[in-house]
Amino acid sequence: MTPLIMERWILQPSPGNCHGCRYLAGVGPFVSHTAPRPPLHEHCNCVIRVIPTGGLGLGARAAMEAQARRNTARVSSILRRASTLVDRPPTTGPVDTIVDA
Ligand SMILES: [Zn+2]
Repeated sequence: MTPLIMERWILQPSPGNCHGCRYLAGVGPFVSHTAPRPPLHEHCNCVIRVIPTGGLGLGARAAMEAQARRNTARVSSILRRASTLVDRPPTTGPVDTIVDA
């Protein structure tokens, strides 16, 4: 079976690092070419990168692929949520504090 190619949102420093970008970086993997595309907001420097999976064991890869398929299946609601987070004031907290409702 061909391994699934996955990608993720990489948060980059920008003048207005926003909740939306932090949220997108925090949701994890997507199936390749299905993640939302930057820029999410003005001056957004975020990028989409393919996730290197060569070092993953079979179990870890399977778990990541399942998560990627879940994220891709609900990408429109993820993007909608990210868009509603854009207008909130930026924070300096870790990405992990933003959880999906
Ligand atoms: Zn951004």
